Amino acid sequence: MKISEKQPLVFTIADRCKTCYTCIRECPAKAISMQNGQANVITERCIGCGNCVKVCTRKAKSFYNEEQQVLHLLKTNNNSIACVAPAFPAEFKEFKDHKIVVGMLKKLGFDKVVEVSFGADLVAMKYEELILSDDQKKYISSDCPAIVSYITKYYPQLTKFLAPIVSPLMAIVRVVKELYGEERKTVFIGPCIAKKTESDDPDYVLTFKEIRNIFDTENIKAEDCEPAEFDPPLGGRGAVFPISRGLINTIKIEENLIQGNIIVAEGRENFKEAINEFDNGYIDDHNLELLCCEGCIMGPGMFSEGKRYQNRAYITRYVKTKLKNLNIQDWENHFNRFQNINLNREFSQDDSRVKAPSEEEIEALYHKMGKHDKQDRLDCHACGYESCREHAIAVLRGLAEVDMCLPYTLDKLKNMVNELNTKNTKLETVQQALKQSEKLAHLGQLAAGIAHEINNPLGVVIMYSNIMLDEINPSDEAYEDLKLITEQALRCKKIVSGLLNFARKNKVKFTSVNIAEFINNCLKAVIIPANIEVEQKCYLSNFSTSIDEEQMTQAITNIIKNAIEAMPNGGKLSIELCNDKDNVEIKFQDTGTGIKDDDKDKLFTPFFTTKEFGKGTGLGLPTTYGIIKMHKGKIHVKSNSNPQKGETGTIFTIILPQLNEN
Ligand code: ADP
Ligand code: MG
Repeated sequence: MKISEKQPLVFTIADRCKTCYTCIRECPAKAISMQNGQANVITERCIGCGNCVKVCTRKAKSFYNEEQQVLHLLKTNNNSIACVAPAFPAEFKEFKDHKIVVGMLKKLGFDKVVEVSFGADLVAMKYEELILSDDQKKYISSDCPAIVSYITKYYPQLTKFLAPIVSPLMAIVRVVKELYGEERKTVFIGPCIAKKTESDDPDYVLTFKEIRNIFDTENIKAEDCEPAEFDPPLGGRGAVFPISRGLINTIKIEENLIQGNIIVAEGRENFKEAINEFDNGYIDDHNLELLCCEGCIMGPGMFSEGKRYQNRAYITRYVKTKLKNLNIQDWENHFNRFQNINLNREFSQDDSRVKAPSEEEIEALYHKMGKHDKQDRLDCHACGYESCREHAIAVLRGLAEVDMCLPYTLDKLKNMVNELNTKNTKLETVQQALKQSEKLAHLGQLAAGIAHEINNPLGVVIMYSNIMLDEINPSDEAYEDLKLITEQALRCKKIVSGLLNFARKNKVKFTSVNIAEFINNCLKAVIIPANIEVEQKCYLSNFSTSIDEEQMTQAITNIIKNAIEAMPNGGKLSIELCNDKDNVEIKFQDTGTGIKDDDKDKLFTPFFTTKEFGKGTGLGLPTTYGIIKMHKGKIHVKSNSNPQKGETGTIFTIILPQLNEN
């Protein structure tokens, strides 16, 4: 084992990860944390099972690679030994004969190529002794390094139940060192990633993926190689080790007795369940044979993506032929020679459990995520955790993010969409208002130009007609005509002045007034018919406002007059005053005919009127608009003219800033 403690065995390739949470779901040790949408492996928690590597379709998970070290070894040392895992027939399906694989490894530079299955034969014998011993103690198999890691980390109290026997790989390394020399370097080639951290034997661990890469880079082709048999000692029944119940099948005697004594569990769900039940004492009268993968034939280091049962078939086919051709005498000689080799092993606890958060913390998090009641906790697994509770615990431990919860994120998105819609609508309204005020500004320029040009000649007409009116005898027949000219000229002057107001070309003379009193005075200046009720509501905390009294009187009386004209059959006019720290708001609400939707855009356009000829000039609201703008204020209209939609009527709201100018 050349990997250092700090080096991650399994890791994420940045940016390939696309937040699918599959690895979280598949990780039996919950050793993956989500940070900024990237699923990172927590090295201290990882048991090296490689499930995440297997399930990631984006190939975002990778593992510690020893190709370069092994290539260097082969170039500098011609004494090395390859120890091939018994899963190899399932990997190299393309070769009819195992001798081709051995030949390729020899061509690559290995001096000896041995089968790990002989180690399995020895280990099986040890298990048999242990299981049939009189001590009544029950054991958990320790041949799968990921299982060993899982127990020492997450069930440290069960460490004492791990069978104190080396793995088949460690056994074969001890055998070949005794047989071929202690100085020999050993390289394991198999389907397992966890083997890379299992022990200091062998020197290097390659997965089948890595050895295939090496074959490629070194251009080792089957057709160029001399087929060769494995070097001794050849394995026997141990060759079935990589398929589930392999241990049982390897043990020869009293199968029924042994089988009844052993519970086999494989795959991430099953082995966890078995350990949990064992820990709870439900099955403590049974031995456990546990495999993290669904048999080593489905290990994460397999390159060829074979089907589980097809892989099994390849193994059993290989074992059958092997046992048929095996020289039993040779095998027994080796077995007898090595059966007393030291195959003992000890395990120590590596407690990696994290203190569970308190119930209060979990509850608080549920509430934060909108999971107030039990029925809000769907346990939908979308986040990769088995339940909402597990997810919440992971969040509180800093391993997961709340956004991983699909219902929560969907809710959040829905709210965001709603918010965006509201903002969009507001934006549209603002855009319309902007267009409208742009239009009015253009109109204002035009109006100002015309009004300015007309104002001077009009002044001359008024002045001379007045002089003439003073000088002419009222009995003169031209007198009445002259009077009419003067009156109409004055009317024109008023119109021009309205236009100038609209165009904001008049000067504003601010004075501070009591706004409530001011509105009262405006009301007094208008004749209110008897059938119209006027209601005043005052919620002012600050009565003083700076306005141009004369102009504002004109603006307010325009609005009041319009309201009255909109209620020919009587009604109610409510005037409401309120303020905040920056603005004063004056609201005029009438129960009149209302304004048609189509007309709302035209209200402030000069000369727009719906009143009969001679009654309306269409200059009231444009003048008001201009005056409000000169006060840096705003004016809004809300109106309903359709009795089917409710009571008809109009609300004009004027908002004036509490200016300090004087
Ligand atoms: P005028 O009063 O001379 O018609 P304004 O500019 O004051 O001109 O008003 C323009 C138009 O706006 C009016 O003709 C009327 O159709 C509409 N209007 C204004 N205020 C109201 C209101 N309170 N209720 C109904 N319609 C209104
Ligand atoms: Mg009017």
